[in-house]
Amino acid sequence: MALQEYEKSMNYCIRCSHCKWTPFNKIKSKRYSGNCPAISRYNFHSYAGGGRVAIAYSLYLGRSEITDEVLQTIYRCQLCGMCQVACHLVGEICEPLEIARELRIKCVEEGEILPEHMMMIDSLRKNDNPLGEPKEGRGDWAEGLGLKNINKEKADAVFHAGCRFSYDPDLRRIVRGAAQLLLQAGVDIGIGGSEESCCGGRAFDIGYRGQMENYADDIISRLKSASATKIITPCADCYSAFKHMYPMIRKEMDIEILHTTEYFARLIQQGKLKPRGTDFQRVTYHDPCHLGRLGEPYIPWDGEWKKVWGQLNVPDPPRQIRRGIDGVYEAPREILRSVPGLELVEMERIREYSWCCGAGGGVREAFEDFSEWTALERIEEARDTGAQALVTTCGWCERNFRDALETSGADFPILDITELLIGD
Ligand code: SF4
Ligand code: SF4
Repeated sequence: MALQEYEKSMNYCIRCSHCKWTPFNKIKSKRYSGNCPAISRYNFHSYAGGGRVAIAYSLYLGRSEITDEVLQTIYRCQLCGMCQVACHLVGEICEPLEIARELRIKCVEEGEILPEHMMMIDSLRKNDNPLGEPKEGRGDWAEGLGLKNINKEKADAVFHAGCRFSYDPDLRRIVRGAAQLLLQAGVDIGIGGSEESCCGGRAFDIGYRGQMENYADDIISRLKSASATKIITPCADCYSAFKHMYPMIRKEMDIEILHTTEYFARLIQQGKLKPRGTDFQRVTYHDPCHLGRLGEPYIPWDGEWKKVWGQLNVPDPPRQIRRGIDGVYEAPREILRSVPGLELVEMERIREYSWCCGAGGGVREAFEDFSEWTALERIEEARDTGAQALVTTCGWCERNFRDALETSGADFPILDITELLIGD
C-alpha cells in the first residue's frame, strides 16, 4: 500500500482530536485522560494521530516536503496504535496508525532516515537483529536446557524467543523460565537457536517493509520444515508481527500463533501448571501495546469505496471495524488471579486504552528522553494504584521501564508474568 491507497482515509479526518485522549466515557481522572504519548509530550497538533494524517495528506498532494523538522515529528511517535482505537470510535474510514506507517515508508523511499534507525537497519542486515549483537550468539540463552533444534529436528511447537529476550542478560531468567515451564508441561518445543531471525517488526515500524517481508518468508519456511502446528513467543512485538503485521502484508503462517501467557493460562486451566506464590501481595498489570490493541488479528478487506447520496464514501462490502478489543487481555489477568495470595489492582488506562511503555516505533533508539518520559508516566500511574510492583509481559516494555527508573534514580519493582510462575 502507498499513501495513494489512503487518499479517502486522509481526506476523511475531521480534525475532531478524539485521537489525543482516552475515549471520554472511559476517562477516570484529568491526570490520566491523555492517551497519545506524542501529543501529551509535545502539545502540538502535528504530533497527534490527526496531525500525522494532515502531514501525510499535505505531502501526498505535493503541498509540502520532508524537512528535518517534519522528519523529527514523523518519528516522535511510538506507533502505539491508541490514536486508531480512539478514532475508530468516531468512524471507521480514517486510519491514523496505518497512515503514520505509510509516512515512514515514504521517508525511507525518499532516503530520509534518522542515523539511529540506520544503525538498526545495518545491524539487521548484518546480524538479523536490531541490537548490534552477533548472530552466532542468538541461541546462547538456551544453553543446557536440552531444547530441540528445529533446523535439524521436527517439533510440534516452535518457541520464538525474539531479539530482546535472546540478547538481554537481565531478561535471560524469563526466557529460560518460559521454555522450561513449557517443557515441564510436556509441550514438544524446538528453537531456531543461532538461526532464528528478527520478526522484522522493528524494520516495518521504521519504514522498511521489504525487510519484514524477507523475515516473514524465512520464519514461515522454518515452521514448515519443522512441521510445527504452533509458534509460541514470550515477546509481544513478535506476537504482533506474526498475528497482525504479516497478514497485513499478505504473509500467512497458517498455524496457531500464541503468546506464552495464552499458553500458560491454558496449562493452568488444564491443571498442568501450578503458579507459585510470591512475596508481593498487590500488583498492577501493564498491557503491552503489541499484545493488546496491536495484537488484534488483522482482518483483510478487499472491497472498494462507494459514494452514496453523492457525497458519503462507504465501504462496499462493509468491513469489520478494528477497535483493538480482540487483543490478548484476559490470559495475563487470568494468570495473575491464579497466583496464590496475589491481588491485581488495575490502572486507569488499561486494555485497548492502555498507555504505551515508550519503547516502540524506533523512539527508544532515536529519542531517549521521550521514551523515558513515556515510561515514567506509566510507572507513576502504576504507583497511584497502591500496587507494590508493575507486572508486564514484553521484554521491550520491561527493558524500557527498568532503564527509565535507573536514569531517573527512582525505584519500583518491574516483573514479567513468567517470574511469578517460576518462583525464586
Ligand atoms: S485522526 Fe480520527 S480522531 Fe484524530 S482528528 Fe482525524 S478523524 Fe478525529
Ligand atoms: S501511534 Fe501512539 S504515539 Fe503515535 S500518534 Fe498515535 S497515539 Fe500518538
